Amino acid sequence: MSANTPPTMRAAVLYGKEDVRVERIPVPVPGPGELLLKVEAALTCGTDLKVFRRGYHAAMIRPPSVFGHEMAGTVAACGETPAGDGTHPAPRFPVGTRVVVANSAPCGACYPCRRDQENLCEDLHFLNGAYAEYLRVPARFVERNTYRIADHASFETAALAEPLACVVQGLDETALRRGDTVAVLGLGPIGLMFVAMLKARGATVVGLGRHALRLDTARALGADTVLDVDAGGHWHAELRRRHPHLDVVIEATGKPEVWEQALALVRKGGIVNLFGGCPAGTKITLDTHRLHYDQVTVKSSFHHRPSAVRAALTALEQGVLPPRLFIGGEKPLEELPALLRGMLHSNRTVKTCIRP
Ligand SMILES: [Zn+2]
Ligand SMILES: [Zn+2]
Repeated sequence: MSANTPPTMRAAVLYGKEDVRVERIPVPVPGPGELLLKVEAALTCGTDLKVFRRGYHAAMIRPPSVFGHEMAGTVAACGETPAGDGTHPAPRFPVGTRVVVANSAPCGACYPCRRDQENLCEDLHFLNGAYAEYLRVPARFVERNTYRIADHASFETAALAEPLACVVQGLDETALRRGDTVAVLGLGPIGLMFVAMLKARGATVVGLGRHALRLDTARALGADTVLDVDAGGHWHAELRRRHPHLDVVIEATGKPEVWEQALALVRKGGIVNLFGGCPAGTKITLDTHRLHYDQVTVKSSFHHRPSAVRAALTALEQGVLPPRLFIGGEKPLEELPALLRGMLHSNRTVKTCIRP
């Protein structure tokens, strides 16, 4: 290759609605404080599917753009580390380091950031481009939301840190008490992660969902009771019989009608976490009497703070989530467009690991 031809890599580029193409584009060059990540594992996610369906994401992606946001890899190159005094200090993550990079980085200076709510940062930057051989990691991400992976943990295990961090954040926002019985509504990957983390924290867990594979996975993760909400509507009576007092209800479907169901199911004095984000413009009805006289606490947590990403990676390294229950298989990058099209019609499977 001549000196004037920049090296290229394969990357998935989002062009618009249901239009993703795997192309050759230049390998990015890391600037000061940045690093170049060789992506070893990128995981598919419901958010990517939403972006694929719509062709954009208001806060995160405007096409044409590389995309994918759950990733782990190896540091392939480091940009100069800015020192300001003319010296060149050693990079924090030298070439060859195995790292996980979160998909967002807060500013650290705005009002929510100063109040330990970096997930609500007024200038939250997002990182996309996991479905590619290489990814340029901007300095803010290197500084605030990149973590070394323990030697014994695999890349695909570490890549689960991003979605699990949302769950850790959700649990941090929900004041669990010893002996709590917690219902999780929705058993997609996020709901299943709640089941695993709640069991690790000693709760009695009720999983409510549909599709045999997901219900079986909830059982495998230790859910004490698993109910199929498709089974002719009997689940409600069965739930009341087995668990008359739900201390906490976590909504993990992102549907307004299920938000209302969560509010109806929790016991007097209980806590509801409306975790699943609903489509913009949707509304729910709140029973004021129930809220006040039954003293129901309503929480709704969004995204994650860097401390939640750190805690999620530690939990993964400790084996809290068996990765085989969350990652159904592996595909090469070339098969990503077909995989996403398939997921449009049956979003039932667990995650797939893309190996660029
Ligand atoms: Zn995700
Ligand atoms: Zn901020």
